[in-house]
Amino acid sequence: MAKDYYKTLGVAHNATKEEIKKKYRELAHKFHPDKGGDEARFKEVNEAYQVLSDERRRSQYDQFGHVFDGSGGSSAGAGQSGFEWPGGFRVDFGQDGGGGFGDFDFTDIFDDFLGGGGGGRARTRQKRGKDIRVELEITFEESILGGKKEFDYSRIGRCHRCDGSGGEPGTKIKECPTCRGQGSVQKTQRTILGSFTQVATCQECRGSGKRPESLCSHCRGKGVEEITETIEVVIPRGVNNGEILKITGKGEASFYGGTPGDLYIKLHVLPHPIFRRQGDDIIMQLPLKLSQAILGDTLDINTLDGAIQLKIPEGTQSGDILKVRGKGAFSSSGYGRGALLIETKVEIPKKGSKKVRDIAQELKHEGF
Ligand SMILES: [Zn+2]
Ligand SMILES: [Zn+2]
Repeated sequence: MAKDYYKTLGVAHNATKEEIKKKYRELAHKFHPDKGGDEARFKEVNEAYQVLSDERRRSQYDQFGHVFDGSGGSSAGAGQSGFEWPGGFRVDFGQDGGGGFGDFDFTDIFDDFLGGGGGGRARTRQKRGKDIRVELEITFEESILGGKKEFDYSRIGRCHRCDGSGGEPGTKIKECPTCRGQGSVQKTQRTILGSFTQVATCQECRGSGKRPESLCSHCRGKGVEEITETIEVVIPRGVNNGEILKITGKGEASFYGGTPGDLYIKLHVLPHPIFRRQGDDIIMQLPLKLSQAILGDTLDINTLDGAIQLKIPEGTQSGDILKVRGKGAFSSSGYGRGALLIETKVEIPKKGSKKVRDIAQELKHEGF
């Protein structure tokens, strides 16, 4: 469970940047060790401010209750589910994605108390469906401008016949015969140290204490089947290669009706023949004729947002960078946009005609 940074700073979840800053200053002043304050509290306040004052980290924290530093899968949440994708988590499209403050729920599955019918209550462990990881190729344009993308993937889903209940449609639900409705069974094990009696979840009913009279003929009572699902994902604008989107509840369904896992989509941005991304800027090369470099010119340039007119100043050098503001990538925080950087490359005629050589001779006389 992550720390509540909002609580630490004593601000509301919807506090503005200014409110956060103001509160931080106040508390930092109060707890400053040099002024005899509480050093531990001072550190906590600082840590909270580091996250909440940074838009990207704050939104990550709001969604996942945890901040990923983007440098690897060793951060707590990702580690728990056992995969090691680099890159920050980004978006949660899930229905429960909005308010899930502080609950990073890779493992929120366990420890349900399920009533055991006949009065006994059994503590059970209901297994959550597995997370699924897929990779998705997107074009350079999609990574910059965002978009929607549809794809198929197969997963363990709810059985279409019984809708996950495991019972034949219309069948009666009765007490589980194995545990007699208790949801748990006792097992006695004899070892060299003596015998141990263990209370375990009933495997037959997975702790619910109930079983359908006749099992679903399609899934034989498991409640799940393999399905191919078509999903449409929204690619947020400005995503980077390797970023991961999370879609809550679209992982594998759980056997016997538990919480489904999540779907993680790792984005792979295809290279573009002309454009290359560098931070929030986009770079492209522009070949110039010698005369255009010397005299200047106005050229039509295709950007990701359509054609623009670019003025080549007189005396442009090879390697000069012409900057077009606002035509780069959307910044990863979602606000603002970088520039299109156009790197010029002056092309010298490889083998000039007699005329070209004559002109060059004249230039030589002029000292160029
Ligand atoms: Zn049972
Ligand atoms: Zn079924």
